[in-house]
Amino acid sequence: MATRESRVAEPARSEWTVQDAADLYQVEAWGEGYFAVGETGRVVVRPDRTPAQELDLFEIVCGLRDRDLYAPVLIRFSDILSDRLKRLHDVFAAAIAENGYEGQYIAVYPIKVNQQRPVVEEVHRHGRDFGFGLEVGSKPELLAVMALTAGDRTPRLIVCNGFKDSTYLEAVILATKLGRHIIPVIESLTELRRLLKHRDTYDVRPRLGVRVKLASQGAGRWKESAGEKSKFGLFASEVVEMVRILRERGMLDCLELVHCHPGSQLHDIRRVKDAVGELAHVYAELLALGADGLRYVNVGGGLGVDYDGSQANRSSSLNYTMEEYAGEVVYRIASVCEAKGVAHPTVISESGRAIAAYQSVLVFDVPGAIRMGPFPDEDIRRTVEHELGLAATDGGSAATDGGSAAADGGSAATDGEEVPQPLLDLFTAYESVGTGSIMEAYHDATQAREQALALFNLGYLSLGLRGLAERLFWATCTRVRDACRSMEPEDVPAELERLDEFLADTYFCNFSVFPSLPDSWAIDPLFPIMPIHRLEERPTRKAVLADLTCDSDGKIDRFTDMDEPRRTLDVHELRPGEDYYMAAFLVGAYQETLGDLHNLFGDTHVVHVRLHEAGGWWIEELVRGDTARKVLEYVQYDVDRLLPELARDCELAVRAERLTLPESRTLLRFYETELNGYTYLLPEDRQA
Ligand SMILES: *Cc1c(COP(=O)(O)O)cnc(C)c1O
Repeated sequence: MATRESRVAEPARSEWTVQDAADLYQVEAWGEGYFAVGETGRVVVRPDRTPAQELDLFEIVCGLRDRDLYAPVLIRFSDILSDRLKRLHDVFAAAIAENGYEGQYIAVYPIKVNQQRPVVEEVHRHGRDFGFGLEVGSKPELLAVMALTAGDRTPRLIVCNGFKDSTYLEAVILATKLGRHIIPVIESLTELRRLLKHRDTYDVRPRLGVRVKLASQGAGRWKESAGEKSKFGLFASEVVEMVRILRERGMLDCLELVHCHPGSQLHDIRRVKDAVGELAHVYAELLALGADGLRYVNVGGGLGVDYDGSQANRSSSLNYTMEEYAGEVVYRIASVCEAKGVAHPTVISESGRAIAAYQSVLVFDVPGAIRMGPFPDEDIRRTVEHELGLAATDGGSAATDGGSAAADGGSAATDGEEVPQPLLDLFTAYESVGTGSIMEAYHDATQAREQALALFNLGYLSLGLRGLAERLFWATCTRVRDACRSMEPEDVPAELERLDEFLADTYFCNFSVFPSLPDSWAIDPLFPIMPIHRLEERPTRKAVLADLTCDSDGKIDRFTDMDEPRRTLDVHELRPGEDYYMAAFLVGAYQETLGDLHNLFGDTHVVHVRLHEAGGWWIEELVRGDTARKVLEYVQYDVDRLLPELARDCELAVRAERLTLPESRTLLRFYETELNGYTYLLPEDRQA
């Protein structure tokens, strides 16, 4: 894989190839075979992980644009979703064969991971061949799933988790009567009592599950949801009590499933081993207690996604593969069953993230950038001469002796006064970068800049000279950074490593971090982000990304990397009049319902792109993004009254001759169009 050295983007040494781009952005590491850099320098999508059917992502974006679907747009690749289900099935099938396991494997998709109807429907449809089911964690989710499974000819498993009040349990009992293969997972004895009451009323034999509190503490980001402190699940003593209650009622054989949820994005395989081992023992012990209806061991969620491609034991990654996960789960359960001489149960996992993450890509464009510099040497010298009256000596060190080189007044900004010392020091530091120690130059410049600011705050430095001090400081930093880049990475002083970040460009991206990428602030796993075209060109800029909101949190300044997260992203120079597209990948899990309506940017367009039998792609489903009208209604504006109110105001303004009639008409037309328009920037907005 890419080493740090090979990722230094400049200066241009050797010829740049698309393989260099793939290495720089580490696509092969996190792409799981679904994403790659194509020969043409664009990101390609391989829904079945083979190059045979690859799609050019940039071409899709252009195709969407031709259909009036502008970026930002969330593209879901349904074929990736079905491939994930197939993979999950295949790796467990392999583990089952390898371990001589006698049970089966079923995945139940927890719909909270991505509840969008088209996604849940697709999981349900694609999972049919494997007998996969669904998991719900609340009453509304149950309502959705009850309807969605209406057409099933063979019932598929529905597992119900979460806090269950009386009506939730009543719905479960009724769904059982309706013929659904539904298993409520009892999380407390109170739930058990509630459920038994409804059972008596409706006279139906429910299937039951039990969630056990594990002693082995989960270690994912949600570790609070596992272990003995978790709010869900029964202590061992309570499990025994549950058995007693069920036996008393002649219902012990209704207990079919044991469950645990060791946390999400488990990055250390040891946690999986511990949790599954403990759960398997609970299963075997319950059989020994006479619960001979038991046939499912449900190991919950937690199967991780390698967001940064490092295969490391940290939250944005994981130290195991899907094959190893399946192998461990099956092996642990098998060995406990062997030891206890009990039958092999059906293994269930509630792998949400691993199923849903890869399918979605958020594509956005970059309407503008701000950058520091460049600071051409001749400009700096000309300015210094003009503003400070310092004699410019070509490449020499006019100011190295402190104030001595100051000319005798008459310069523009100093206006005959003595040149302030911090500015002289800054110029000295600037000039010394090529000749002296870069650390010293950097320290001197930093100190002089602080002094300049102090003078300004005391009223002794004009705004113009403060501006010059800033420029000199930045120009010095730029020189220091460039000097660092030509050094061996291990020789670069630690203090100077972050200069790149300080001097990075800011690329303004046409999205709002809040609705579209909530994970980047809500939880830590970072999404891989990269340009989706021009990858045959060497990226020459380093940037942080800012969104359109005026919120200072609305920026992304941490990027996935095999080592440490990176502080800047390598990007290409923007070309005037030409769109530049980037994308955030692996955003299909825990995305679309977390965001809020920051600055009233709403949902982006969502398109479902599928492979076509005859090659290429087609749009199977399209959900247009929110209009301004919709987000305003969402925050309780009576949108139908807004336009008439404004029209009345315009009418009065025309009367009073503050506006002409054509101006009033333009304003009202603009208002009406915007109300019905996309909340993000459109190409025409950017041109102005
Ligand atoms: C959230 C959740 C899951 C999904 O976990 P992933 O890590 O996304 O696989 C599974 N089971 C329960 C009970 C959950 O709460």
